[in-house]
Amino acid sequence: MPELPEVETIRRQLAPVVEGVVLERLEILDPRWCAPAAPAEVAAAVDGRRIERLGRRGKYLVFELDEEVFLVMHLRMTGNLLLGAPDETDERPHLRVRMELGTGDRLLFTDPRRFGTGVVLLGEAARDEYFGSRLGVEPLGADFTAEALGAMAAGRTAPVKAFLLSQERVAGVGNIYADEALFRAGIHPLRPVGSLTKLQLAILRDTVVVSLEAGIDARGASIDDFRNADGARGSFQDRFLVHRREGEPCPTCERPIRKLRAAGRGTYVCERCQPRPRRRKTNKP
Ligand SMILES: [Zn+2]
Repeated sequence: MPELPEVETIRRQLAPVVEGVVLERLEILDPRWCAPAAPAEVAAAVDGRRIERLGRRGKYLVFELDEEVFLVMHLRMTGNLLLGAPDETDERPHLRVRMELGTGDRLLFTDPRRFGTGVVLLGEAARDEYFGSRLGVEPLGADFTAEALGAMAAGRTAPVKAFLLSQERVAGVGNIYADEALFRAGIHPLRPVGSLTKLQLAILRDTVVVSLEAGIDARGASIDDFRNADGARGSFQDRFLVHRREGEPCPTCERPIRKLRAAGRGTYVCERCQPRPRRRKTNKP
């Protein structure tokens, strides 16, 4: 699934193409994309509007249109947003949505598994409410501090990996970047997040940022369907430290990397560099 760095890669590629340009026509070929809203209703709200800015919040792409109209997309499992070449027909497999721009460019939303979504929000208040109920702190923003992380973690017994994956806490981090950040921090994914020391939380804050930025620098990771807006694969999968490297030597200590399950996801760890949490003593009567 595309995570923050993959969505940010698309945003950076498309922003110069779409910003300041009129969205002539939004054609929704698959009504499930915008359900429960009707495709005609969504198109009527955005057609002919100028795209002032292409933003991102967590794993969402946000087309900011004139008069505070926001077209918000999520790629989910297998969605891609591709820039159509000028001379090609749009006969792409799994094409769900086509956007025609005033410049003649086209954006094509393809999605084999059809979990991707689009929604129109009218006004900044509606946008803020939509994200407020779904997303926590933006990890590349100024609010993502060791103190903020500590306040969210205090008293919680959830494993730190599950905590990092919950979008209502830290927006945009998924399975890849959680594994990479925890390895860099030397923290086992099953550690209860509330048991981390102040120093560990400060280190984890930094390694989340470093891991996400490394992903953006590599133009994302393409381990399955993800493609950049120009159809190219990202290269971060070649730079994973532990993720998907079961049995390979740890880059720090050379002990084989183990795969285990945490938060219901395949999780990769070096149990020498990331010591397992000690069992709590239970005081049985
Ligand atoms: Zn190691």
